[in-house]
Amino acid sequence: MTGPDGGHRVRVKWTCVRGHEHDLCVRIRREVPRELRCAEAQEDGYGFGGGGGCTLPTDLTGRVERELRDRFQDAKRRGFVALAA
Ligand SMILES: [Zn+2]
Repeated sequence: MTGPDGGHRVRVKWTCVRGHEHDLCVRIRREVPRELRCAEAQEDGYGFGGGGGCTLPTDLTGRVERELRDRFQDAKRRGFVALAA
């Protein structure tokens, strides 16, 4: 399944500078295995959890793609991509 823009939605847990663990759904260009896909109901960006007021890294998409390239097996085992501010 691809989105209207042909992107793929991947689950990301981003630990921000304030120490929250934000549940995110990030749209990237590369293929995403089923284990790492967002739930259908989850909206792009902040889905649920965490809270407002935190600014996402501007290069978030690039970091997610890099993490998938460098530590794909870790992410797949976890079921999400883990990023820290
Ligand atoms: Zn936060």
